[in-house]
Amino acid sequence: MAEEPAIKAVEEIASQLGERYVLIEDLDRSAYSYDASGMQYIPSAVVRPVELEDISFIIEVANKYGVPLVPRGSGTSLVGGPLPIEGSIVVDMQMMNKILEKDEYTGLVRVEAGLRLLDLNKVLSNRFMPINPDGMGFSTVGGLIAEDAASPLSVKYGTTAAMVLGVEVVLPTGETLLVEQPGPPSKRNILNLLIGSEGTLGIFTSALLRLPLRPESRIAYKIEMIDISDAVSIQTAIKRANISIAGFEAYHNYKELIGEKGAEAVSFLEVSGTKECADVWSSKLRSIFKEMDIPFEEIDTEEADSIWERRKSIYELAKRRKSAMRVISLLVHTHLTRDAIQEIDRTGSRLKLPVVTVFNPLLGWVMAIFLYDPTDEKEVKRTEKAIFNVIDRTIALGGSIGFGIGAGITKITSDMDEGFVSIFSSVKEALDPNWIMNPGKLIER
Ligand SMILES: Cc1cc2nc3c(=O)[nH]c(=O)nc-3n(C[C@H](O)[C@H](O)[C@H](O)COP(=O)(O)OP(=O)(O)OC[C@H]3O[C@@H](n4cnc5c(N)ncnc54)[C@H](O)[C@@H]3O)c2cc1C
Repeated sequence: MAEEPAIKAVEEIASQLGERYVLIEDLDRSAYSYDASGMQYIPSAVVRPVELEDISFIIEVANKYGVPLVPRGSGTSLVGGPLPIEGSIVVDMQMMNKILEKDEYTGLVRVEAGLRLLDLNKVLSNRFMPINPDGMGFSTVGGLIAEDAASPLSVKYGTTAAMVLGVEVVLPTGETLLVEQPGPPSKRNILNLLIGSEGTLGIFTSALLRLPLRPESRIAYKIEMIDISDAVSIQTAIKRANISIAGFEAYHNYKELIGEKGAEAVSFLEVSGTKECADVWSSKLRSIFKEMDIPFEEIDTEEADSIWERRKSIYELAKRRKSAMRVISLLVHTHLTRDAIQEIDRTGSRLKLPVVTVFNPLLGWVMAIFLYDPTDEKEVKRTEKAIFNVIDRTIALGGSIGFGIGAGITKITSDMDEGFVSIFSSVKEALDPNWIMNPGKLIER
């Protein structure tokens, strides 16, 4: 453990919560020093609250000693979101995982924020949470809301925000707020400010969600794109044919998925709904692929169930190559998706860094994954430069960064969004005058 104020804060928290809810051993602290990006920052300690009152107390103590807190779900963030970059105390939310209310008919569920997606998806038999960002179901409800997480199925279902009707949050002032809109969306609430705030405005303790119905029928395709320009042509053809796509995701520069066939990208698409609708859309899709001479393969329902799980291979990729990842997510106008990917490729080759791109042409969403050796100082610097190159190019294309996965340690600067930075900073300053809540993420102090 590091500094004196942190030691005092941890002792005081342990005396209230009990020793077993506070972890200070090196091994435990090391286990919480990573997220899925592979970056490492060791926390001063880890606290594991089990109820709302614990969190209010932890925040009170953190303010008293000026010690930063970092809320953490499952640590599947790709951008360092739950990493204690300022030697902070990590607040592990996973013990707060109860189901508080559920209603199969309306699809409403109220759950604690530490509940994992794979458990949330067992709560109602005919409903599901369609946002499974890591493909493994490990992410927690709190983490999904904090990042406003997106997934390939966001084409049909939107991002996490579309399913969130309310949250209970403990603000950095220690005040608990229940922000809910169970009826039609109200013009006046602060839900949209809290969703996507990346743990910088408070700790979510529970959420009220409305889960959509599971589709009756799903049909999925795997296609190969010889040229990434095909992505833009496919999305235009899909829009013209008025096909309702449920999910779309393409992988570029990803040998492990593409193989050695020489295609520039491999991609997965899904249509879903009633059997009649899915059949009609599916047959329209096949005509488009044939007309455009795009090699395609229909995937059976069982395989369709697992196609989006393939995203976990992004994580495995870095582990296999024993490297860390620096990921940046951007959103551009759909017709500029190819230009954004080309800029990323150029950046990777100029700075001699392997880069894999995951993109969704229907949303204009592109994730650049730079792989680097965190022990090689020069490579770390080149990676930092790569991220800023991509940001510059994205701004030049009129795009924005942070969609889905969040900005994390990269942070949003006023070059990217002056209005957001100025308003969000004022709110942050007012709610968190000591900047104890996840400092160093999302925006600069
Ligand atoms: C292979 C792979 C692919 C991925 N693809 C995507 C993707 O396509 N889209 C996407 O959105 N994400 C993606 N992610 C990232 C990640 O899965 C999501 O961001 C997820 O929402 C994080 O959930 P978590 O519970 O693990 O949160 P953590 O990683 O623990 O934390 C994430 C952020 O949420 C904050 N936070 C966590 N819990 C709370 C709480 N209770 N209250 C307040 N703040 C909290 C943390 O401080 C941190 O800033 C991917 C991850 C992997 C490994």
